[in-house]
Amino acid sequence: MADVYNWHLGRKMKYVYPEAHPQKQFAAVLNINRCIGCQTCTGTCKATWTFSKGQEYMWWNNVETKPYGGYPQHWDVKLLQMLDDAHQKANVKAEWDTRQTNPNTPYGVYNGLTITEASDGSQQAIGYIPPDTEWRAPLIFEDTATGYKGDNLGISTDGASLPEHQTWFFYLQRLCNHCTYPACAAACPRKAIYKRPEDGIVLIDQSRCRGYRKCVEQCPYKKPMYRGTTRTSEKCIGCYPRVEGTDPLSEGVPMETRCMAVCPGKIRLNGLVTIGGDGQWAEDPKHPLYFLIKLENIALPLYPQFGTEPNIYYIPPRWAPRAYLHQMFGPGVDAALEKYAAPSRELLAVLQLFRTTQRMIFRFEIEEGPLVLETEVGGKPWKMYNDTVIGLDAKGREAVRLSVVEPIHERPPERMNSI
Ligand code: SF4
Ligand code: SF4
Repeated sequence: MADVYNWHLGRKMKYVYPEAHPQKQFAAVLNINRCIGCQTCTGTCKATWTFSKGQEYMWWNNVETKPYGGYPQHWDVKLLQMLDDAHQKANVKAEWDTRQTNPNTPYGVYNGLTITEASDGSQQAIGYIPPDTEWRAPLIFEDTATGYKGDNLGISTDGASLPEHQTWFFYLQRLCNHCTYPACAAACPRKAIYKRPEDGIVLIDQSRCRGYRKCVEQCPYKKPMYRGTTRTSEKCIGCYPRVEGTDPLSEGVPMETRCMAVCPGKIRLNGLVTIGGDGQWAEDPKHPLYFLIKLENIALPLYPQFGTEPNIYYIPPRWAPRAYLHQMFGPGVDAALEKYAAPSRELLAVLQLFRTTQRMIFRFEIEEGPLVLETEVGGKPWKMYNDTVIGLDAKGREAVRLSVVEPIHERPPERMNSI
């Protein structure tokens, strides 16, 4: 085992391979607050990559309803329980020391065990293979809320108000996290799983895979899936032809993946961040993902305590109980939601960029506009400006330009009846 640095945990941790980093890292921010649960992402991924024989139950992208939903069923509850058992056995408290935050360790230091550190040595990481019954219903408990209070239909009679709703659920969008320290790759006895040096996308080499399902067992997010017809495991490939800019539509520049580009809720922003010589994200304050994740800290990793340093980040839902969100996204939740509720001028402009162009945005610029609203948020004064945000692609060309206030287009009178 090697000692590798995990910035989500603010410390070094054990991993089977020594530290090695790609030049760029595939990453994304998903804004849970905006998801309408339409499953367009899910269906589009399936229609693109998993429509063949033996892939019937494979949903590389899925959207599950929390707290009860899960694909496979109970994936996170089961792993959290295993981690909890390991902590009890080792007499270790799974705590975050949030006094030790700084720009490089924004969430503090995690003093608990990761899935690798919790292993008894018989495996690279703790994990389990879900039985077939747990894969059969990707939408189980869809739209099922908890904390019912109200009439006999469970509809609240008191209304709902922030910061927490009594009756709540939210959609969790899930795909492979193309982790910095992939548990799937660590687990594979055939070394069939690798992380691409050019973009950090994690792939399973189908010619090497023998279907031992160690990746299925040890990926904490349960994103590799076994295919009976080929006797190999498969997983999300990060739509790499689009990321490479080789898709015929892409004009030679990196494009967002299919699940990101189709999202009607405009919750997704996908890109490539630059990794510096020290293995950390190179400072790039005008890159929208760097800005949201590293500067504003409003987008957080899913279950950072698992220790794989996942590269898909989430803006947590404002209405869910904080204790639940802390467990799921770590201790950065409160600060993230405070910023999201009353965004800075720059943050409000950058939030407009989600799902506005298929081309990946590598840099943003802001042109200042007039003050349009003065109000109070949480008892503090807050101002809104109609700034214009411009997204630039990999070649520095303007890919999108839009204002904070959505423009109104009026149909001219002579065209009132035309479609
Ligand atoms: S989410 Fe799972 S399958 Fe994807 S890279 Fe991480 S460990 Fe591997
Ligand atoms: S397409 Fe977008 S809005 Fe629809 S379920 Fe997927 S992430 Fe949510």
